Amino acid sequence: MRDGEKIERMLDVIKDEILPLTECEVKRGNHVFGGAILRSDTLTSVMVGSNNRIESPLFHGEIDTLNRFFKLPVRPQTNELIFLATHDPCPMCAAAIAWAGFREVWVLFGYRDVECDFGMPVDLEMYREIFGANGITSENKFFTKHSIKEALAEVSDPDKFSPVIEEIEKRYAALEVSDFDYPGLE
Ligand SMILES: [Zn+2]
Repeated sequence: MRDGEKIERMLDVIKDEILPLTECEVKRGNHVFGGAILRSDTLTSVMVGSNNRIESPLFHGEIDTLNRFFKLPVRPQTNELIFLATHDPCPMCAAAIAWAGFREVWVLFGYRDVECDFGMPVDLEMYREIFGANGITSENKFFTKHSIKEALAEVSDPDKFSPVIEEIEKRYAALEVSDFDYPGLE
């Protein structure tokens, strides 16, 4: 599958599978972050998830996706799968994805988007305060992390993706997130 087709498919998963779930979950009081697990070869989704902080503050979108996936009675090996995160992962989720054995990770919104556009500075603060780092590395022993936005710079027809990205951004911007007590933000 060409890179452009792969990106198109991942954006469709965010728009058509993750976002509808997130839109329901945000109405219940959960946050906006979500994830999906896709087969590497066909890019069909095996599982999607969305933040479930009502149940536990640890159930970020990625953790919810992993929890749902590991409840499947029969599931593919994680090294044959792609983890797609709507947003760059916090330290807990990045480590959970590594512990689960994923080798390929994709994200749409980067840490700066999370901090500025989504008003969530805690992820980067945790990296800085606890680890002295500014987020995760793109290449490490456990997985390679790709950015959809950065990959678009490499495809032959990047403008083709603008409408779907704009729709996704608009739908995220329309979500009304309830107040929540974040650590470090007193
Ligand atoms: Zn997280």
